[in-house]
Amino acid sequence: MQTVYVDNNATTAIAPEVLEVMQPYFTSEYYNPSSMYSAARTPALAIQAARETVARCLGGINPEQLLFTGSATESNNTALFGTVLANPARRHIITTAVEHPSVLEIGKELARRGHDVTFLPVDRNGELSVDDYVRALRSDTLIVSVMMANNETGVCYPIAQLARLAKETDAGIVVHSDATQAIGKLPVDLESDLQHVDLLSFSGHKIHAPKGVGVLFVRQGTPWRPFILGGHQELGRRAGTENVPYIVGLAKACELAVAGVADEQTRVRGLRDRLQATLEERIPALEINGKAAALRLPNTLNLAVHGIEGEAILYELSRHGICASSGSACTSGTLDPSHVLKAMQVPFTAIHGSVRISLSRYNDEADIERIIEVLPAVVARLRKLSPYWDGKRNCLKI
Ligand code: PMP
Repeated sequence: MQTVYVDNNATTAIAPEVLEVMQPYFTSEYYNPSSMYSAARTPALAIQAARETVARCLGGINPEQLLFTGSATESNNTALFGTVLANPARRHIITTAVEHPSVLEIGKELARRGHDVTFLPVDRNGELSVDDYVRALRSDTLIVSVMMANNETGVCYPIAQLARLAKETDAGIVVHSDATQAIGKLPVDLESDLQHVDLLSFSGHKIHAPKGVGVLFVRQGTPWRPFILGGHQELGRRAGTENVPYIVGLAKACELAVAGVADEQTRVRGLRDRLQATLEERIPALEINGKAAALRLPNTLNLAVHGIEGEAILYELSRHGICASSGSACTSGTLDPSHVLKAMQVPFTAIHGSVRISLSRYNDEADIERIIEVLPAVVARLRKLSPYWDGKRNCLKI
């Protein structure tokens, strides 16, 4: 049976071009880039070249503003704890109720440590109120951390505007954005529209590089201190011997991702929209979480299937070779409904019935056809067993 992989917001397949450029650094070029002998120049230069490539991909920034990390989770921790370390006097932090756990949990931890943390709510579309945000900004606000795009729903947030508003309120506010789901799907330019963003995080494995490598951008002049201490690597800002093959792979993946934004915005969006429209036609009472948002990632489709469990749908899809997800991979494995859908006030008859389909450049028409062939039939079968579904009238009982 052919596998149809549509869980690309969880992780992506490594691109063959990425694997190819990584290979020498696993074998002949294994030297520690900090070593003094001439052979170690090759990996050291490869890291430098990778930093320059990523800098070009983010709008032509100064490469020395980039650190390579072990993941987006590490980048988020480094961004936020590094800012708190450098600014003991300011105690207020603004973030949102729909962040990835690698930001949300830091917010909760900082609240336990005595910071005042505002978790901005979202509306039924998953969107923030800019007015609420402006009202939340204070003279002692230290950090604003808002993701560029949500991993579960694909809803995008107006980061350029939020960053500008923060700086207009107080130039000392540090603006962080988790761009993990945005790279390769939206333009990310830290020299033009995102010029007021101070810290930006993302990960390799969402853009066809391996798991275990990430990037943190720290704008020159940001009041921030290193968080992982030890050796002098990464210009003294992130200790630990560099993961050379992964860094080289991430840079290649970044180049391909940025070159592929147009394809995501047209072809991939076309696939997603056709799938969405056909499923809406063939599955009664289907809602699309985040559909009414002003901006949604072109690859993401979050279905609210009333009356049945998302886990049951996923199991059935998996039996048909289709790999999707019921929320973020980090929260699946618990029985709690997604914090993102809870924040959006998705009704209880659908909050357990969410299925996320997330595409990549490797998906095609045949994948979409297969999902269309399988999913409506799976939903119809499961609804026959549901106490909430009226089989005769083909609608929810309540
Ligand atoms: N932020 C967002 C928005 C994500 O989607 C993810 C991955 N699910 C992360 C952070 C964490 O990335 P990593 O797995 O590299 O730690």
